[in-house]
Amino acid sequence: MTAQIIDCKKLAQSVKEELKAKIAPLSAAPALAVIIVGCDPASEIYVRNKEKACLAVGIIPQTHKLPAETSKEELAALIERLNNNPDINGILVQLPLPAHLNAAEILPLISPVKDVDGFHPLNAGALLQKNAKTFIPCTPKGIIKLIKSTKPDLTGLNAVIIGRSQIVGLPVANLLLNENCTVTVAHSKTQNLPALCRTADILVVAVGKPELVTKEYIKPDSLVIDVGINRTANGLKGDVKFTDALETAAYITPVPNGVGPMTIAMLLDNTFEAYLKQHRP
Ligand code: NAD
Repeated sequence: MTAQIIDCKKLAQSVKEELKAKIAPLSAAPALAVIIVGCDPASEIYVRNKEKACLAVGIIPQTHKLPAETSKEELAALIERLNNNPDINGILVQLPLPAHLNAAEILPLISPVKDVDGFHPLNAGALLQKNAKTFIPCTPKGIIKLIKSTKPDLTGLNAVIIGRSQIVGLPVANLLLNENCTVTVAHSKTQNLPALCRTADILVVAVGKPELVTKEYIKPDSLVIDVGINRTANGLKGDVKFTDALETAAYITPVPNGVGPMTIAMLLDNTFEAYLKQHRP
Protein backbone atom coordinates (compact mmCIF):
# COMPACT_ATOMS: atom_id res chain seq x y z
CA MET A 1 0.00 0.00 0.00
CA THR A 2 1.02 3.63 -0.38
CA ALA A 3 0.82 5.91 2.63
CA GLN A 4 -1.15 9.12 2.48
CA ILE A 5 1.15 12.15 2.66
CA ILE A 6 -0.34 14.51 5.24
CA ASP A 7 -0.86 17.89 3.56
CA CYS A 8 0.85 19.88 6.30
CA LYS A 9 1.09 23.07 4.23
CA LYS A 10 -2.67 23.07 3.64
CA LEU A 11 -3.40 22.45 7.33
CA ALA A 12 -0.98 25.22 8.34
CA GLN A 13 -2.60 27.54 5.81
CA SER A 14 -6.06 26.91 7.25
CA VAL A 15 -4.77 27.73 10.78
CA LYS A 16 -3.34 30.98 9.38
CA GLU A 17 -6.58 31.88 7.57
CA GLU A 18 -8.53 31.40 10.82
CA LEU A 19 -6.05 33.55 12.74
CA LYS A 20 -6.13 36.28 10.11
CA ALA A 21 -9.91 36.47 10.44
CA LYS A 22 -9.67 36.69 14.26
CA ILE A 23 -6.91 39.33 14.20
CA ALA A 24 -8.46 41.63 11.56
CA PRO A 25 -11.15 43.14 13.88
CA LEU A 26 -8.75 43.80 16.81
CA SER A 27 -8.19 47.47 17.68
CA ALA A 28 -4.41 46.96 17.89
CA ALA A 29 -2.47 44.24 16.07
CA PRO A 30 -0.60 41.63 18.17
CA ALA A 31 3.19 42.04 18.06
CA LEU A 32 5.93 39.43 18.23
CA ALA A 33 9.54 40.30 19.13
CA VAL A 34 12.14 37.89 17.74
CA ILE A 35 15.69 38.10 19.06
CA ILE A 36 18.49 36.61 17.00
CA VAL A 37 22.08 36.66 18.26
CA GLY A 38 24.88 36.13 15.74
CA CYS A 39 24.46 35.12 12.11
CA ASP A 40 23.75 31.40 11.90
CA PRO A 41 22.50 31.09 8.27
CA ALA A 42 19.74 28.54 9.08
CA SER A 43 18.48 30.72 11.97
CA GLU A 44 18.41 33.76 9.69
CA ILE A 45 16.18 31.87 7.23
CA TYR A 46 13.89 30.72 10.08
CA VAL A 47 13.58 34.29 11.38
CA ARG A 48 12.79 35.68 7.91
CA ASN A 49 10.10 32.98 7.48
CA LYS A 50 8.61 33.91 10.85
CA GLU A 51 8.54 37.61 9.87
CA LYS A 52 6.77 36.81 6.59
CA ALA A 53 4.25 34.53 8.32
CA CYS A 54 3.48 37.21 10.94
CA LEU A 55 2.82 39.84 8.28
CA ALA A 56 0.54 37.45 6.35
CA VAL A 57 -1.88 37.14 9.29
CA GLY A 58 -1.67 40.70 10.62
CA ILE A 59 0.86 40.20 13.45
CA ILE A 60 3.57 42.87 13.71
CA PRO A 61 7.02 41.25 13.68
CA GLN A 62 9.79 43.13 15.47
CA THR A 63 13.21 41.56 14.86
CA HIS A 64 16.17 42.38 17.12
CA LYS A 65 19.40 41.30 15.44
CA LEU A 66 22.29 41.33 17.92
CA PRO A 67 25.99 40.73 17.21
CA ALA A 68 27.48 37.30 18.04
CA GLU A 69 29.56 38.81 20.86
CA THR A 70 26.48 40.16 22.74
CA SER A 71 26.92 39.57 26.48
CA LYS A 72 24.43 37.81 28.75
CA GLU A 73 23.78 41.15 30.50
CA GLU A 74 23.04 42.96 27.21
CA LEU A 75 20.67 40.20 26.08
CA ALA A 76 18.98 40.16 29.51
CA ALA A 77 18.51 43.95 29.35
CA LEU A 78 16.80 43.70 25.94
CA ILE A 79 14.49 40.90 27.18
CA GLU A 80 13.63 43.02 30.23
CA ARG A 81 12.75 46.01 28.02
CA LEU A 82 10.53 43.80 25.86
CA ASN A 83 8.91 42.21 28.95
CA ASN A 84 7.96 45.72 30.12
CA ASN A 85 6.80 46.99 26.72
CA PRO A 86 2.97 46.75 26.62
CA ASP A 87 3.03 46.91 22.80
CA ILE A 88 4.90 43.58 22.59
CA ASN A 89 2.77 40.48 23.20
CA GLY A 90 5.18 37.64 22.43
CA ILE A 91 8.95 37.25 22.78
CA LEU A 92 11.06 34.55 21.15
CA VAL A 93 14.80 34.00 21.37
CA GLN A 94 15.96 32.15 18.26
CA LEU A 95 18.00 29.06 19.13
CA PRO A 96 20.79 28.03 19.01
CA LEU A 97 22.52 30.86 20.84
CA PRO A 98 26.28 31.42 20.46
CA ALA A 99 28.32 29.10 22.73
CA HIS A 100 28.98 31.74 25.44
CA LEU A 101 25.22 32.21 26.04
CA ASN A 102 23.37 29.46 27.88
CA ALA A 103 19.76 29.01 26.69
CA ALA A 104 18.83 27.49 30.07
CA GLU A 105 19.82 30.79 31.73
CA ILE A 106 18.35 33.09 29.06
CA LEU A 107 14.91 31.56 28.33
CA PRO A 108 13.62 31.88 31.94
CA LEU A 109 14.19 35.65 31.67
CA ILE A 110 11.27 35.94 29.24
CA SER A 111 8.03 36.85 31.00
CA PRO A 112 5.91 33.65 31.20
CA VAL A 113 2.93 35.54 29.74
CA LYS A 114 4.97 36.50 26.64
CA ASP A 115 6.75 33.12 26.32
CA VAL A 116 5.23 32.08 22.97
CA ASP A 117 7.78 29.25 22.53
CA GLY A 118 6.61 27.71 25.82
CA PHE A 119 10.19 27.08 27.01
CA HIS A 120 9.96 29.01 30.31
CA PRO A 121 10.15 26.54 33.25
CA LEU A 122 6.75 27.76 34.51
CA ASN A 123 5.09 26.99 31.18
CA ALA A 124 6.94 23.67 30.82
CA GLY A 125 5.77 22.72 34.35
CA ALA A 126 2.21 23.84 33.64
CA LEU A 127 2.15 21.49 30.65
CA LEU A 128 2.97 18.57 32.98
CA GLN A 129 0.06 19.66 35.19
CA LYS A 130 -2.29 19.74 32.19
CA ASN A 131 -2.86 23.44 32.82
CA ALA A 132 -4.81 24.67 29.79
CA LYS A 133 -3.48 28.21 30.25
CA THR A 134 0.14 27.30 29.44
CA PHE A 135 1.86 28.02 26.13
CA ILE A 136 2.45 24.67 24.43
CA PRO A 137 5.77 24.66 22.52
CA CYS A 138 5.09 25.28 18.82
CA THR A 139 6.51 22.14 17.20
CA PRO A 140 4.80 19.70 19.63
CA LYS A 141 1.53 21.65 19.39
CA GLY A 142 1.70 21.42 15.59
CA ILE A 143 2.56 17.70 15.72
CA ILE A 144 -0.58 16.95 17.76
CA LYS A 145 -2.70 18.93 15.27
CA LEU A 146 -1.20 16.96 12.38
CA ILE A 147 -1.81 13.62 14.13
CA LYS A 148 -5.40 14.56 15.04
CA SER A 149 -6.11 15.65 11.46
CA THR A 150 -5.94 11.94 10.55
CA LYS A 151 -7.66 10.50 13.64
CA PRO A 152 -9.37 12.81 16.16
CA ASP A 153 -9.56 10.20 18.97
CA LEU A 154 -6.15 8.74 19.88
CA THR A 155 -7.36 6.85 22.97
CA GLY A 156 -5.52 3.59 23.58
CA LEU A 157 -3.06 3.92 20.69
CA ASN A 158 0.60 3.02 21.21
CA ALA A 159 2.88 5.98 20.55
CA VAL A 160 6.66 5.80 20.34
CA ILE A 161 8.65 9.03 20.28
CA ILE A 162 12.30 8.85 19.28
CA GLY A 163 14.08 11.78 20.94
CA ARG A 164 13.76 13.21 24.45
CA SER A 165 14.59 16.89 23.90
CA GLN A 166 12.89 19.61 25.94
CA ILE A 167 11.86 21.26 22.67
CA VAL A 168 10.22 18.34 20.87
CA GLY A 169 10.34 14.81 22.35
CA LEU A 170 9.33 15.43 25.96
CA PRO A 171 6.43 17.84 25.30
CA VAL A 172 5.09 15.56 22.52
CA ALA A 173 5.19 12.65 24.99
CA ASN A 174 3.15 14.62 27.53
CA LEU A 175 0.66 15.83 24.97
CA LEU A 176 0.11 12.29 23.65
CA LEU A 177 -0.36 11.04 27.23
CA ASN A 178 -3.02 13.73 27.60
CA GLU A 179 -4.67 12.23 24.49
CA ASN A 180 -4.80 8.85 26.32
CA CYS A 181 -2.08 7.20 24.23
CA THR A 182 0.30 4.67 25.76
CA VAL A 183 3.60 6.48 25.31
CA THR A 184 7.19 5.23 25.10
CA VAL A 185 10.06 7.70 24.76
CA ALA A 186 13.12 6.25 23.02
CA HIS A 187 16.56 7.88 22.82
CA SER A 188 20.18 7.27 21.92
CA LYS A 189 20.61 4.63 24.65
CA THR A 190 17.43 2.65 23.82
CA GLN A 191 17.98 -1.05 23.07
CA ASN A 192 16.51 -2.74 20.03
CA LEU A 193 14.94 0.44 18.66
CA PRO A 194 13.47 -1.05 15.43
CA ALA A 195 11.46 -3.69 17.34
CA LEU A 196 10.21 -1.08 19.82
CA CYS A 197 9.17 1.24 17.00
CA ARG A 198 7.29 -1.57 15.26
CA THR A 199 4.86 -1.55 18.22
CA ALA A 200 3.91 2.06 17.43
CA ASP A 201 0.57 3.05 15.97
CA ILE A 202 2.01 6.57 16.09
CA LEU A 203 5.76 7.04 15.54
CA VAL A 204 7.20 10.52 16.09
CA VAL A 205 10.84 10.85 15.07
CA ALA A 206 12.79 13.87 16.40
CA VAL A 207 16.45 12.91 16.34
CA GLY A 208 18.39 14.89 13.74
CA LYS A 209 19.90 11.89 11.92
CA PRO A 210 19.07 11.65 8.20
CA GLU A 211 16.94 8.62 7.31
CA LEU A 212 17.60 6.83 10.61
CA VAL A 213 14.13 5.25 10.46
CA THR A 214 13.78 2.66 7.72
CA LYS A 215 11.16 0.05 6.84
CA GLU A 216 12.05 -2.27 9.75
CA TYR A 217 11.10 0.49 12.25
CA ILE A 218 7.61 1.06 10.85
CA LYS A 219 4.48 -0.87 11.83
CA PRO A 220 2.26 -1.48 8.79
CA ASP A 221 -0.63 1.01 8.58
CA SER A 222 0.83 3.28 11.27
CA LEU A 223 1.15 7.06 11.35
CA VAL A 224 4.69 8.47 11.07
CA ILE A 225 5.60 12.06 11.93
CA ASP A 226 9.06 13.04 10.70
CA VAL A 227 10.32 16.06 12.66
CA GLY A 228 13.97 15.91 11.52
CA ILE A 229 15.53 18.57 9.35
CA ASN A 230 18.92 17.47 8.09
CA ARG A 231 20.96 19.33 5.50
CA THR A 232 22.83 16.69 3.47
CA ALA A 233 24.83 16.63 0.23
CA ASN A 234 21.62 15.30 -1.36
CA GLY A 235 19.47 18.16 -0.08
CA LEU A 236 17.13 18.45 2.91
CA LYS A 237 16.30 15.07 4.48
CA GLY A 238 14.10 14.01 7.34
CA ASP A 239 14.89 11.44 10.04
CA VAL A 240 12.70 8.91 8.18
CA LYS A 241 13.47 7.23 4.86
CA PHE A 242 10.47 8.66 3.04
CA THR A 243 10.15 5.94 0.38
CA ASP A 244 10.13 3.23 3.09
CA ALA A 245 7.45 5.07 5.05
CA LEU A 246 5.40 5.49 1.87
CA GLU A 247 5.48 1.72 1.33
CA THR A 248 4.70 0.72 4.92
CA ALA A 249 2.78 3.37 6.88
CA ALA A 250 -0.77 4.66 6.47
CA TYR A 251 0.26 8.32 6.92
CA ILE A 252 3.58 10.16 6.69
CA THR A 253 4.62 13.82 6.90
CA PRO A 254 7.00 15.08 4.19
CA VAL A 255 10.32 16.90 4.66
CA PRO A 256 10.47 19.74 3.74
CA ASN A 257 6.98 21.26 4.05
CA GLY A 258 5.89 18.93 6.84
CA VAL A 259 6.18 19.74 10.52
CA GLY A 260 8.00 23.04 9.72
CA PRO A 261 5.04 25.05 8.32
CA MET A 262 2.83 23.81 11.17
CA THR A 263 5.44 24.96 13.72
CA ILE A 264 5.28 28.48 12.30
CA ALA A 265 1.47 28.43 12.27
CA MET A 266 1.52 27.44 15.97
CA LEU A 267 3.91 30.30 16.76
CA LEU A 268 1.36 32.70 15.28
CA ASP A 269 -1.39 30.96 17.24
CA ASN A 270 0.58 31.30 20.50
CA THR A 271 1.23 34.99 19.76
CA PHE A 272 -2.49 35.54 19.32
CA GLU A 273 -3.10 33.63 22.58
CA ALA A 274 -0.54 35.85 24.32
CA TYR A 275 -2.35 38.94 23.05
CA LEU A 276 -5.65 37.62 24.42
CA LYS A 277 -4.08 36.75 27.80
CA GLN A 278 -2.73 40.28 28.08
CA HIS A 279 -5.88 42.05 26.88
CA ARG A 280 -8.58 39.78 28.35
CA PRO A 281 -6.89 38.03 31.29
P1 NAD B 1 18.14 17.19 20.08
O1 NAD B 1 19.51 17.02 19.51
O2 NAD B 1 17.92 18.11 21.20
O3 NAD B 1 17.60 15.75 20.54
C1 NAD B 1 17.81 14.61 19.77
C2 NAD B 1 17.31 13.39 20.51
O4 NAD B 1 17.54 12.26 19.69
C3 NAD B 1 18.00 13.13 21.84
O5 NAD B 1 17.03 12.92 22.84
C4 NAD B 1 18.81 11.85 21.62
O6 NAD B 1 18.82 10.99 22.74
C5 NAD B 1 18.06 11.21 20.47
N1 NAD B 1 18.96 10.40 19.61
C6 NAD B 1 20.14 10.78 19.08
N2 NAD B 1 20.65 9.77 18.34
C7 NAD B 1 19.77 8.75 18.42
C8 NAD B 1 19.74 7.45 17.88
N3 NAD B 1 20.72 6.99 17.10
N4 NAD B 1 18.70 6.66 18.19
C9 NAD B 1 17.69 7.10 18.97
N5 NAD B 1 17.67 8.34 19.51
C10 NAD B 1 18.69 9.15 19.24
O7 NAD B 1 17.21 17.54 18.83
P2 NAD B 1 15.78 18.29 18.74
O8 NAD B 1 15.95 19.73 19.04
O9 NAD B 1 14.74 17.50 19.47
O10 NAD B 1 15.53 18.16 17.16
C11 NAD B 1 15.45 16.90 16.53
C12 NAD B 1 15.31 17.12 15.02
O11 NAD B 1 14.11 17.81 14.78
C13 NAD B 1 16.42 17.96 14.41
O12 NAD B 1 16.67 17.49 13.09
C14 NAD B 1 15.82 19.35 14.34
O13 NAD B 1 16.37 20.13 13.29
C15 NAD B 1 14.38 19.00 14.04
N6 NAD B 1 13.42 20.02 14.46
C16 NAD B 1 12.50 20.39 13.53
C17 NAD B 1 11.54 21.35 13.86
C18 NAD B 1 10.52 21.73 12.84
O14 NAD B 1 9.83 22.72 13.02
N7 NAD B 1 10.37 20.97 11.76
C19 NAD B 1 11.53 21.91 15.14
C20 NAD B 1 12.47 21.48 16.09
C21 NAD B 1 13.40 20.52 15.73
